[in-house]
Amino acid sequence: MEIVNFSAGPSALYKEVLEEAREEFLSYQGRGYSIAEISHRSPIFEELLFETKARIKRLYKLDENFEILFLQGGASLQFAQIPMNLYKNKIEFIDTGVWTSRAMKEADILQANYEVIASSKDENYSYIPKVNFSDNIDYGYLCSNNTIYGTQYKSLPKSKAPLVIDASSDFFSRELDFSNIGLLFGGAQKNCGISGLTLLIIRKDLLQEKANIPSLLSYKKQAEANSMLNTPNTFGIYILSLTLKHLEKIGGLAKVHELNQEKAEILYKVLDASDFYQGYSCKEDRSLMNLCFKLADEKLQKTFLEEAEKENLLFLKGHKELGGIRASLYNSMEKKNVEKLADFMKVFEKNFS
Ligand code: PMP
Repeated sequence: MEIVNFSAGPSALYKEVLEEAREEFLSYQGRGYSIAEISHRSPIFEELLFETKARIKRLYKLDENFEILFLQGGASLQFAQIPMNLYKNKIEFIDTGVWTSRAMKEADILQANYEVIASSKDENYSYIPKVNFSDNIDYGYLCSNNTIYGTQYKSLPKSKAPLVIDASSDFFSRELDFSNIGLLFGGAQKNCGISGLTLLIIRKDLLQEKANIPSLLSYKKQAEANSMLNTPNTFGIYILSLTLKHLEKIGGLAKVHELNQEKAEILYKVLDASDFYQGYSCKEDRSLMNLCFKLADEKLQKTFLEEAEKENLLFLKGHKELGGIRASLYNSMEKKNVEKLADFMKVFEKNFS
């Protein structure tokens, strides 16, 4: 029976991407060597890098004001690297859980002056605070999709200052209006590839020289070196490129968003129709990527996970911070597999209520 992988990340890749990578792993474009075996300075890799940038620009409809960086250290290094590069006088944060708190912790270490303008901590991060940022700040920071709690911004706050967005868990899942975005970043390992690659889309005017930043951590220097101050994650960029090619093939981000809405709707419908299951996040903010819920009778949770596993529905255990169940339905999740989980949930409810 086919395995269904609901992992929150690193997570399932498109089958087509895995197949293409397998096909040409030993011989990239029939050249007799693997993409993993050649220099990042070779024209062949350079072509792949430029092609990947072009795909990102086409998918997000970016103009020439944006630069793309391929970095390392995960989204977590960005929690420090962002203030290192962009902070001058003041940052504002919206606190929506563990990942924004981690970003604040790094700002603390760097002794940056910041304000938390809103937090959903009062309801254990089950909603998104609706606030706008001040005009006169260096940047306003938020996390567009909160992987642990299953909350997601449906629209971005207004801001004259640049928005800095952790999009680790909803990268390339929908179209975005970049008119207020200064920096969109995330690890590739959830929606666009494998771990070890951090992707940044940054407005060029933010690429400024600043004192006391180690070369490798300087956005400006990285941009000038085409993300190749040192060896980038070449294989990660390759898998990203295959993933983006697939997204273009299936109709771009508007289409992907439509599919994501349809898939999430299938599961939310089951949750809404039942008292047996309890959705975690508030309805208007619920995520299309990570669907978090509990069983009303929490003693049944272990059995739920065991029975799901028997049906090859894997990695449904919620994050340790929250417990419960989490079904991650990233772009690559097929609708028929969401239907399998929905059917399983209905049968489980019938058998155990
Ligand atoms: N931000 C969000 C929203 C995440 O979900 C994660 C990882 N789960 C991170 C940041 C940290 O990412 P990384 O492991 O790439 O540092």
